[in-house]
Amino acid sequence: MRIAVGGFQHETNTFAPTKADYAAFEQADSWPALQRGEGLLSAFEGMNVPIAGFIDAASSGNTLLPLVWCSATPSAHVTEDAFERIMAMMLEDLREAGSFDAVYLDLHGAMVTEHFDDGEGEILRRVRAAIGPRVPLVASLDLHANVTARMVGEADALVAYRTYPHVDMAETGARAAEHLFHLVKSGARQAKAMRRLDYLIPLTAQCTLIEPAASLYGLVSETEGHVSGNGRVSSVSFTTGFPPVDIPECGPVVVAYADTEAAAAEAAQRIADAVREAEPDFREKLWSARDAVAHAIAHSSPGKGPIVLADTQDNPGAGGNGDTIGILSELIAQDARNACLAVLFDPESAARAAEAGEGARVSLALGAKTGGAPDEHPLEGEFEVMRVTDGEFLATGPFYGGSRMSLGRTVRLRTGGVQVVVASRKGQCADKEMIRHTGLDPRELGILVVKSSVHFRADFGPMASEVLVVESPGPNTADLAKLPFTRLRKGLRVTPMGEGFGVS
Ligand SMILES: [Zn+2]
Repeated sequence: MRIAVGGFQHETNTFAPTKADYAAFEQADSWPALQRGEGLLSAFEGMNVPIAGFIDAASSGNTLLPLVWCSATPSAHVTEDAFERIMAMMLEDLREAGSFDAVYLDLHGAMVTEHFDDGEGEILRRVRAAIGPRVPLVASLDLHANVTARMVGEADALVAYRTYPHVDMAETGARAAEHLFHLVKSGARQAKAMRRLDYLIPLTAQCTLIEPAASLYGLVSETEGHVSGNGRVSSVSFTTGFPPVDIPECGPVVVAYADTEAAAAEAAQRIADAVREAEPDFREKLWSARDAVAHAIAHSSPGKGPIVLADTQDNPGAGGNGDTIGILSELIAQDARNACLAVLFDPESAARAAEAGEGARVSLALGAKTGGAPDEHPLEGEFEVMRVTDGEFLATGPFYGGSRMSLGRTVRLRTGGVQVVVASRKGQCADKEMIRHTGLDPRELGILVVKSSVHFRADFGPMASEVLVVESPGPNTADLAKLPFTRLRKGLRVTPMGEGFGVS
């Protein structure tokens, strides 16, 4: 088979402070820089990235034709300029690929651009228009996709992750490959069914290591491959959705593919019913920074593993800039001991501290520079420079594992019993190495604050004595009822068991 392979990944938080421009897609972050041409086929080797799993599963016996692949850190809208430039590359690469039997795209599913609510729907529409109605078009999606009717309509199949933390990204690419082989070999179209849920699920409650998501994804796996009198179910995906997105089609969706309409509908309905029943269990407890720090100081003890505070509202994986200082200020105010926050984004402070050198004491105005929390001001104080690094290291945890990270110049600072890892690039703290490469073992900490919502649980969960989700200033609003939505569809419940949007 000749299979065209590409990708265009962005998770858009329409309430975030900064947009994703072309440069954001061109550069490397925790994932590789923009790839094009033959180099793409080896750029992802060993990484937990969907296209890596796809290439691995599809390369032997087939010819893979590279299209453009790129991703940017989650943020506000993708600029029109970036979207149009990247789509022009993708369509040009498709033309150059000549003839092919199928197309695979590594997409996120929650992209909003300056000019389209449904970024992936538009990507799939343009690719479909270029390849015609008969060539199978399969895309893998993030579990946080806000799947739209257009996406389902244009693609032959959408195959989503089943874990959050996303430890199965490469595995999902491989599942997409299996499904694509099946489509090409059978030559037959699969029936599709889509079911929308009518409530938003808070990000931190979507974690698949805890209930109710753990059981729901068990049901998803069990339903795929199921054979009934109606036929065989070939693929089932449940996307929990990315909530901070003010578009009518925001929210959780179930998509199923099967031999027959009846089998697809039965499978999708079965999962959707279970998700509806689980609604009360998706409510979550949020701590204030003050209470969380006081609790952590009172309950942390040496050798037990850190109490981990998730600074979810400033999660760079969900549109935060990673530079708000609410919890950091609280740690200092309450004189916490053996505490560390990671990773604070502040290139200016990292540069000043690095210039001063290890062992120096330096006066800094730390963090709060990008407007992620409009009421905050930088934290003024004197800090000891504990370590200076180039921010280049190999991630080792189950989430980022295998990725070469480039955080830019990075420093570890200390004031009293509180330390902070400061980097020159944004990065969600979801890998021990992000701290350990600065010479500090996070297992030895009493209190660890991470700028992450859920992904940190993959690597930090096993060592944590307790996890508290904290509501401290930042653009990724955890209490969805506080977001100034204006464009959701009528009746959608913004929180589990909450009130319907636009219903008074
Ligand atoms: Zn995700």
